[in-house]
Amino acid sequence: MRAVASDPQSGRLLEPLARVLGTRTANALAKLGLETTGDLLRHYPRRYAEPGTLTDMSELVLGEHVTVMARVERATVRRMHSRGGAMLQAVVTDGHARLDLTYFGKSTGALRTHESRLVPGRVGLFTGTVGAYRGARQLTHPDYVIVGENDDVEDEAAALVEISRPVPIYPASAAIATWRIQRAVRTILDPLTQEDLPDPIPADLRERHGYGTLLEALRDVHEPFSVEQAHRGLARLRYEEALVLQTELARRRAQAAALDAVARPRRALGDERPSLLADFDARLPFTLTAGQREVGEQISVDLARPHPMQRLLQGDVGSGKTIVALRAMLQVVDAGGQAALLAPTEVLAAQHARTLRSLLGDLAEAGLLGGAEHGTRVALLTGSLTAPERKQTLLDAASGAAGIVVGTHALLGDRVQFAELGLVVVDEQHRFGVEQRDALRSRARVSPHLLVMTATPIPRTVAMTVFGDLETSVLTELPAGRAAITTHVVPADKPKWIARTWELVREEIDRGHRVYVVCPRIDASDGAGSPASSETSDDGFLTEISEEPASDRPPLRAVTEVFDELREVPVLAGVPAAMLHGRMSPADKDRVMADFASGAVKLLVSTTVIEVGVDVPEATVMVICDADRFGISQLHQLRGRVGRSDRASLCMLISSAAQDSPAAERLARLAQTTDGFELAQLDLETRREGDVLGAAQSGAASSLRLLRVVRDAKVIARARADAEQIIAADPDLADHPKLRDAVAQRLSDQSREFIDRA
Ligand code: ADP
Ligand code: MG
Repeated sequence: MRAVASDPQSGRLLEPLARVLGTRTANALAKLGLETTGDLLRHYPRRYAEPGTLTDMSELVLGEHVTVMARVERATVRRMHSRGGAMLQAVVTDGHARLDLTYFGKSTGALRTHESRLVPGRVGLFTGTVGAYRGARQLTHPDYVIVGENDDVEDEAAALVEISRPVPIYPASAAIATWRIQRAVRTILDPLTQEDLPDPIPADLRERHGYGTLLEALRDVHEPFSVEQAHRGLARLRYEEALVLQTELARRRAQAAALDAVARPRRALGDERPSLLADFDARLPFTLTAGQREVGEQISVDLARPHPMQRLLQGDVGSGKTIVALRAMLQVVDAGGQAALLAPTEVLAAQHARTLRSLLGDLAEAGLLGGAEHGTRVALLTGSLTAPERKQTLLDAASGAAGIVVGTHALLGDRVQFAELGLVVVDEQHRFGVEQRDALRSRARVSPHLLVMTATPIPRTVAMTVFGDLETSVLTELPAGRAAITTHVVPADKPKWIARTWELVREEIDRGHRVYVVCPRIDASDGAGSPASSETSDDGFLTEISEEPASDRPPLRAVTEVFDELREVPVLAGVPAAMLHGRMSPADKDRVMADFASGAVKLLVSTTVIEVGVDVPEATVMVICDADRFGISQLHQLRGRVGRSDRASLCMLISSAAQDSPAAERLARLAQTTDGFELAQLDLETRREGDVLGAAQSGAASSLRLLRVVRDAKVIARARADAEQIIAADPDLADHPKLRDAVAQRLSDQSREFIDRA
C-alpha cells in the first residue's frame, strides 16, 4: 500500500502509467518495477552518452544487454541465395573497435528502411544483446535511434543544439529501449509545473545550498543540455535522498530520546554508601586510556538521564571496550539496576563472564564467604548449563541477585525475567540491526539504556546511515605498551615457508606463548567449496570472498585435517594442542577455551568461532589457513586475537592466491597496516554497495537510489545536520508536510520492497 500524500497536487505523481502512456508502454515499464508517473520520474539515467564521445566498444561483454553510441561505417543489403530472403549487414564503430549489426528480412525491399537510416557517418544509439558470429561481436536486430534524425526543427541552429545534447541512458532491459523510456519521461515531465511537484527540501535549505527546485532538478537530469547540468540535478536529488533518510533517522532518535527510562546516575562524590564502580576503579590493574575515560564519561552522563541511552561504541580490536562496558554496568548496578551483556557467540559469552568475574574479584561474590558486602553477582546463561545451574541463573536474574547477566542474544528471549533491567550492552555486534533495537525498546515496560559495541570499525557515513538512530563514540587509541603485530603472507605452495611457519610457532610456544591456527571449515563433511554451509551459528561469521569459479579451487583447509597434520610435524612434537569449533558441545568449547587461557593448551586449531572478542593476552601467533578466502574485516578481526599485550606478535596468512589477484592485493594491504579504520574504508571500497548495507543491516538503510555511502560522505553529513535541526524545531514535521510525505512514502516503498522479497 502506498502512503496517500496529503498534498492534492502530488496526485499527478500517483497516476498509473497506463493512463498516461497507454498499456503497451506501461506494461514494458512495469517490468522495471515502474507503476506510477512518480516512479518513472524517479527512474534516473544511469549515465549520459555524448554525441561527440562514442562508447568504448572494446569493453562489450558477450551476452550482455548494451546500449552504445557509435558511428555507422557502412551498411549493405544483399540477397541470401542459400536460405532465400535478404540480409542487411552494417558495421558501427567507436573509432577503434567495430561492432556488426545484422538484420534479416523477407526481401531486400523489406530492409530498405534500415538502409536509408543507417547512413555512413551518422551517429546513433544502438541497443541489443551482444552476440558473436565467426569471432566478431554483433547485435542481431538491434533497436536504434539516429541522432538528430527525428528533430523536425526548422531552424538549423536549434537542430544543432538538439544534436549535441547528452543522451540519458536509462537502466533499461530487453523489454524497453532506453530512448523509449526517455520519450515516456518527457511525455510526463514536460507538461508538469512546479506546483505538481511537492519538493521535500524546504526552500530555505534549497537556497542555502544553492539547489534548484525539484522540477528543475528533474529537467536537469532527464533532459540536460550538458553533462554538467545533469550532474547539478543529480547532486540535488542525492541531497534530497539523504535528507529524507536522515530526517527519518533523526525522528527515530528523537522518539527514542523521548521515551522514559530510569535515570542511573553515578554515585555522587562524598556519598557515604559503598560503590562498586568506585571500588572497581580503585583496584584497576592499569590506568584507563584517555579514550576510555572520555567515552566512559559520555556514557555516564547518558545513563544519568531519564531517557534511554542509545549509543554505539566503536573501538578497534584490542582497544579495551570491555572495561568501558563493565564500568557502565557497575554504575547501573550501583543505582539499583541490572545489566545484561549480550555476546554473539557462547564462547565469547563464557569468556566475558570469566573476565568480569576475575576483574571484579570479591566484588562479584555477593552472598559467598569472603565476598564484598555490597558486591553483586555475575550470572552466565549458556547452553552448557545443567538444568539446576540454569534454574539458579534464571532465579538470580529474576530476583536481582545477579547484577550482571551475561549470555548470547537468547538472553533477550522471553523466558528470561529480570528484576530491574537497566542497561543492555550488545558486544561485537554490527549485525544488531534496527529491528532488533526496535524490538528491545518495545519489549520493556520502561526502556533500558542501550550500548552497542563493535570492533569492526564502520566508516562514519555508514555508521550515520546504518546506525543513524544511535549516537556514536569512538575509541581510537590502543592501551599503552602494546607491541606491534608483524604480518606475513605465506604462499601455500612453498613447503619451505610453511615449515618455517611451524618453526616460528614452536619458538613462540617455547617462550611460554600461545598460538591460534584458524581454518575455514570443520572437516571434510563441510563441503569443499562452501565453507559456511554446515557450520553452526558460532562459526557462522565466515564471509568467504572468492573470485574464482568453485571448481577451480583446491578444497578449503579443515580443522580436523590440519590438527592431524600438525601432530605429524616433528618440530611441534609434544606441544599440547586442541581443536575448537561450533559443532562441539558448549561444555567442551568452554573447557578448551579455559585450557587455552590457562596455558594447559598452547596450540589451538579453530574455526572462525574465535573471530571476535576472544581475549587471551599470552597468544602471540595467529596462523590463518586459506587466508585469501576471507574478507578484510574478518582477517583484521582474527589478527586482533594476538597483539593483546606487550609481547610482539605475528600473523601468518597462508594463501594460495595467484600473484596480482585481488585476493593477493587484499592480503598485501592487510600486511601493511593494522589500522582498522583504514582497513574498513578499503573493505568498503572493494565491496558493492548492497553488501555494505546488506539486508541484515536492515530497515532505514536500504533502497538508496542515488546515494553511495562512501562517495557521498559529505552530502550525508550535511543532510544529517540539516535533518537534526528540522526535527529539533519541528518534531512531527507539521510545518514540513512535503518532507513528511516523502518520509512516509520512503517507508511505504520499503515495506513494499520487503513484502515483494518475502
Ligand atoms: P576489545 O576492545 O577488543 O574488546 P578488550 O576489552 O578485550 O578489547 O581489551 C583488550 C585487552 O586490553 C584486555 O586484556 C584488557 O584487559 C586490556 N586493557 C583494557 N584496557 C586497558 C588499559 N587501559 N591498559 C592496559 N590494558 C588494557
Ligand atoms: Mg571485546
